[in-house]
Amino acid sequence: MIAASLEKIRKELPEDVTLVAVSKTKPVADIQTAYDAGQRIFGENKVQELTDKHEVLPKDIEWHFIGHLQRNKVKYMAPFVSLIHAVDSFKLLKEIDKQAKKHDRVISCLLQFHIADESSKFGLNLEEAQNILSSNEFIELHNISIVGVMGMATFTDDTEQVRDEFRTLENYFNVLKSHFFKYNDAFKEISMGMSGDYPIAVEEGSTMIRVGSSIFGARD
Ligand SMILES: *Cc1c(COP(=O)(O)O)cnc(C)c1O
Repeated sequence: MIAASLEKIRKELPEDVTLVAVSKTKPVADIQTAYDAGQRIFGENKVQELTDKHEVLPKDIEWHFIGHLQRNKVKYMAPFVSLIHAVDSFKLLKEIDKQAKKHDRVISCLLQFHIADESSKFGLNLEEAQNILSSNEFIELHNISIVGVMGMATFTDDTEQVRDEFRTLENYFNVLKSHFFKYNDAFKEISMGMSGDYPIAVEEGSTMIRVGSSIFGARD
């Protein structure tokens, strides 16, 4: 079931779109099944769960942290995390840099934008992101690499609204690319699209989709 779902999604995905298999709440055995079916990139949104799973699963898995991240927990994932999707403050970015430095690593990060209409969702607006990227302090951070943007659309059946929100994120990406990353090839990712909306996200320029329930089944 997991292998078949993975294959189905991979088949319909353009080659240059990365699939992050969101394994939060799912047992290690399910991740191993997906791994055996060739999947190497997994996403988690709780630090403890991420570190527990990292410890027991194959070491060539690329672990992405996709949830809201508290600063005091960065240190637990700093030795191994390969991409942090939801950087939503300068303070958090500075802490990631500090912890990455301790391990002599450069940690890749995405800036999370608030694109949905729900007030509960985290994320920056364009001005806040521009303020971070244009500050002198930012230039001093050598152990983080901003490789793109991330966002979550509103949970709604209104596909036009979802499409509009993804377009907004793509537009933010383009603005930042042209102002801050024009000659930086690493800045290339637009992380958008989940089980319910990834086909729309891909149509609107997503380079990275985060899919959980469509691979592993519904969560409790
Ligand atoms: C849980 C989660 C997903 C995956 O959601 P599904 O609907 O199960 O595909 C994607 N992104 C984030 C940030 C999540 O927390």
